[in-house]
Amino acid sequence: MSYDKNNIFAKIIKGDIPCSKIYEDDSVLAFKDINPVADIHVIVVPRGEYISFNDFCLKAGSEIVASFFKRVQKIAEELNIVDSGYRLIMNHGSDASQSVDHFHVHIIGGKALGGLIPGDIYTR
Ligand code: 5GP
Repeated sequence: MSYDKNNIFAKIIKGDIPCSKIYEDDSVLAFKDINPVADIHVIVVPRGEYISFNDFCLKAGSEIVASFFKRVQKIAEELNIVDSGYRLIMNHGSDASQSVDHFHVHIIGGKALGGLIPGDIYTR
């Protein structure tokens, strides 16, 4: 699978589609999810063209990977959810229902989030 330059997050990064921006620098952009699942639901993306977490770890250098995740932590801090807690989600591929093929981290918080996958593996 090759990177689709017209995916929604690529368009947001280019500024072709508006977003509610939380943070940006030369390599990272963070914005509110359009369909939030909690009071706080922020998407963090590298500006580089990576399809998913898997692709990011394979293709990006260690420094880029490290500084990206350091930035995710800073954003969580700025969202003031470190003490209350938050969840990070990175969906890779079809079994995880990844719907936008540009690597992204969901930062979700602002309420008690319950079990890891509600109504699924813990109820079997
Ligand atoms: P995935 O399922 O790929 O991990 O998550 C994709 C996320 O992108 C979903 O939570 C969805 O609500 C969000 N999303 C899809 N289109 C847009 C958009 O145009 N703007 C914003 N801000 N979020 C979007």
